[in-house]
Amino acid sequence: MKQAIDYIRERIGQAAARSGRLPSTVTLIGVSKTHPAELVREAYAAGIRQFGENRVQEAESKISACSDLADIEWHLIGHLQRNKAKKAAQLFAVIHSVDSLELAQALSRHAVELNRTPIRILLQCNVSGEASKEGIAAVGWEENAPLRTEIIALAQTVAALPGLTLVGLMTVAPYSDDQETVRGVFHSLRSLRDVLQAALPHEQLTELSMGMSGDIDVAIAEGATMVRVGRALFGERSYPAV
Ligand SMILES: *Cc1c(COP(=O)(O)O)cnc(C)c1O
Repeated sequence: MKQAIDYIRERIGQAAARSGRLPSTVTLIGVSKTHPAELVREAYAAGIRQFGENRVQEAESKISACSDLADIEWHLIGHLQRNKAKKAAQLFAVIHSVDSLELAQALSRHAVELNRTPIRILLQCNVSGEASKEGIAAVGWEENAPLRTEIIALAQTVAALPGLTLVGLMTVAPYSDDQETVRGVFHSLRSLRDVLQAALPHEQLTELSMGMSGDIDVAIAEGATMVRVGRALFGERSYPAV
């Protein structure tokens, strides 16, 4: 695993350097879904501090089994149902998959009740138009002024909620061998972030969560600040994580 981590860090470093960025501007999130807590410990020992899970229930026992690991941070990267918002607010430092105002409001309420440090959240956006992808419908926002206005209004409302800090946007690229398709999706997310940042000058929308095992290089070239890497670090998953 140490070798896999070194290799991914190398890839991140090279991709960052090609874009004139420091490697430290890209956070590596180890996606531990389907893997046991022992693997998290091993990755932690090898220097990983950020871990991504896509299901609240699966994460709960893992997070508690790793509660002795100082300065570890857990990221929720999978779809979150509103009825699990309270659990999610208890467990995660960062939630990448906020895809509706109702979900953001529920998280806000629970974060306030729990009196916790604000949950860092990202708005998950579907900029590829793939029906299978979760996220706020944002495909074609560049040409669609009413849609753009709607997304800006949503971001403004979410940013004003107590208990949460809106830090940026997240997307999942389509499965495609065509790098240019993938690049276009990442580029669109970055541009949308820039538009939102201009509309919300008092927020710091610094994070772009994009890029997985197959596409971290192009994601970093397009400005990713958080890459979510599972298979390339931890090997194939033995069962599908849905
Ligand atoms: C599983 C998952 C990842 C990691 O994917 P790999 O291909 O294993 O790197 C990243 N992001 C999300 C949202 C995921 O569900």
